[in-house]
Amino acid sequence: MISIFNSTTDYKGFVATNCEKIRKKDGKGIQELRFWMRPRKNSQGICPHCGRSCSTYDTSRVERFFEFPMLWGIPVFLVYFMRRVSCTEHGVVTEKVPWAEGKETQTKEQVQVLATWARRMDWSSVAKYFQTTYGKVARAVRQIVEYGLKHRSLEDIESIGVDEIQYSSGHKYLTLIYQIDGSNKRLLWIGKDRTEQTMERFFDEFNKEPADGIPRSEKIQWVCSDMWKPYLKTIKEHCGNALNILDRFHIKKHLNEAVDQTRKEEISRLRSEGKEAVLTGSKWLLLKNSENLSETQAPKLKELLGYNLRCVRAYLLKESFDRFWTYKSAYWAERYLDKWCTQALKSRITPLKKFVKMIRNHKELIMNWFASKRLSSGVVEGFNNKVKLTVRKSYGFGSDETLQTDLFHTLGKLSEPDLTHRFC
Ligand SMILES: [Zn+2]
Repeated sequence: MISIFNSTTDYKGFVATNCEKIRKKDGKGIQELRFWMRPRKNSQGICPHCGRSCSTYDTSRVERFFEFPMLWGIPVFLVYFMRRVSCTEHGVVTEKVPWAEGKETQTKEQVQVLATWARRMDWSSVAKYFQTTYGKVARAVRQIVEYGLKHRSLEDIESIGVDEIQYSSGHKYLTLIYQIDGSNKRLLWIGKDRTEQTMERFFDEFNKEPADGIPRSEKIQWVCSDMWKPYLKTIKEHCGNALNILDRFHIKKHLNEAVDQTRKEEISRLRSEGKEAVLTGSKWLLLKNSENLSETQAPKLKELLGYNLRCVRAYLLKESFDRFWTYKSAYWAERYLDKWCTQALKSRITPLKKFVKMIRNHKELIMNWFASKRLSSGVVEGFNNKVKLTVRKSYGFGSDETLQTDLFHTLGKLSEPDLTHRFC
């Protein structure tokens, strides 16, 4: 046991000398395993502030316990009498041990195990499975995320995507910034709200200490975003060399909202005429992509399309908008877009007219998509879906900090500390 332990860990200056089995109170089976740690002969304690080897001042008479990954379902602890060392610069301080950070009572191995599983399961389940507490799982994830953020590189990022999500029953916004380069797609930054200040904060942090002295935002070539004014304005100011593209996913979202608004208005009109039953349960029929409809939904949609209703016309216009993205030539795509806008205006449906106005105001940025060689906005949409899942998973566990940690942990592609052996 000791030999397996010593060969899967590499604690410089220390060695496990004894594995103690603590029996359960009823005598049936083992309650926990304790590996007793000792400093190697002549090895000195390390000052936690400067990393120097220092002479021992004294040794604690109370042992400290550190949680280690469990074995055969049995909790495992490292046990050690901490030394105090006297550093010429920092005075008498408690030594730094290689298996844990600062005052942590979880070993780095345990932190990695908990954090890895916390990416796959909700944190309470992780805590239950590993016989620990929710708070310790949260601490483990936070440690791993802090390490990852400290050790990541922000150099040479060429494409970013900007997105926002509503959370906490719709009253709050988070702005999320992603790197969406072909070779590297990850969450870069999270900020509260979706204002100009939010974006300014991002660029401030993003441009901190660039390796070659040139602000990183000036190296960005493509920015994919929604047509939200504060975003467009700050992107223009900071990314002087970039083409801002309004992505397909967000345009579709606005168009869907217009169709849904039309449907709502029509329901209240039909209600006043006593005919609203036609549209009961129609929301998803009209908003889903037609190829995603279920077997029971498809005939219902067909029936609905037989009525001469405003929302049906809006739906058909929504479906025909998709053709815009299939053009190879930007010229013909633009011609199609113009034609589509004229047609949509003729429908005299107010929400659609608003949509057309928005499209016309931002046409240049929409057309940039063709110049970008069709930068995949599916990436932002994919992230958006994953973010929603994480929000749902972390919701109820309280703080915004927890949510942000969880988002970085799940989507940040952060690197982890190297350990001699991976326990999971
Ligand atoms: Zn020191």
